[in-house]
Amino acid sequence: MNLWKPDRVYFEPSAMEYPMSKKIYDYCKTNNIPVLKTTSHSQVRDIPGETERAQFANARKTLVVGTKKSMKLEVCKPSAHYQFSLVTNCPGNCEYCYLYTTQGKKPYVRVYVNMDELFDTIDQYIEQRLPEVTSFEAASTGDPLGLEHITGALKETIEHFGTLEQGILRVVTKFSNVDSLLDAKHNGKTAFRFSINSDYVIRNFEHTTAQLQERLKAAKKIQDAGYELGFIIAPIILHEGWKDGYKKLIEMLHDHISAENNKTITFELIQHRFTSNAKEIILKRFPNTKLDMDESKRALKFGKYGRTKYVYPKEEAAEMKEYISNLITELYPNGKIQYFT
Ligand code: SF4
Repeated sequence: MNLWKPDRVYFEPSAMEYPMSKKIYDYCKTNNIPVLKTTSHSQVRDIPGETERAQFANARKTLVVGTKKSMKLEVCKPSAHYQFSLVTNCPGNCEYCYLYTTQGKKPYVRVYVNMDELFDTIDQYIEQRLPEVTSFEAASTGDPLGLEHITGALKETIEHFGTLEQGILRVVTKFSNVDSLLDAKHNGKTAFRFSINSDYVIRNFEHTTAQLQERLKAAKKIQDAGYELGFIIAPIILHEGWKDGYKKLIEMLHDHISAENNKTITFELIQHRFTSNAKEIILKRFPNTKLDMDESKRALKFGKYGRTKYVYPKEEAAEMKEYISNLITELYPNGKIQYFT
């Protein structure tokens, strides 16, 4: 897997005083990447490109270094109690990416350098729920591993959680550059999950992420380094030959990650869903997409704040859940399926 290299990097003034900015600046200098200033990420208007597609492609090669202003953490059901952001967007270009709904007009990649403030906030949220354990998802707004070679933020965060008694960090990725994390003092407090899918889904919809084989090799390294390990199968898509595709996926997973040690491997299953807004953006950015977003074949589901999304009809969702769960329990009798949604 080639590590992502931005074509241009903007710095917000508020970011300049933080050590991570110096690290990113040095990375730019070493790699001859143009460094630019912006008063705020929302003022980044000179991303080249004549068409929406060209601008999107260039935005995905643009990094904005800033500080996270709001330290109010959102809840993150069903995967964790709360979520926080080390990054927004990521170097991946998955055609189905759920971030197109929330980040549709701002597809450039952002990183936040005020780590100490973030860690203070996390500590306060943990304090409020004592004596319960509080879990935090770090990959809801982007994939931090995709930028780890530039920021080192994930390792810092893993090591912060390693010092906490009652906090759990949850990370999910489609990348494979885990080597810098293998010696992190995680202290068993980080649950590392890899997002995997059938060959059809990865081949057709996941661009500039790591290949499945690379993710599975990285997962093995993470397991050997003593992290809690899990897999997210998402989005599950009922493509032609899906049963065979997901069977091969679980068999391939089993070839790399054995079920025979005593550690529980977790699984999270998420069916494909889309909103009308996301569909509109996806069709502009990927006009030849093979992603099936035919509303007439889906069921409408109401979410937070009255928002609606299209999911598979109940019977199809139930079949998908049962079929994939059986594949997992057959090869991983001690595996734990945490949820299907
Ligand atoms: Fe979106 Fe995740 Fe793909 Fe990045 S890797 S584009 S966050 S789905």
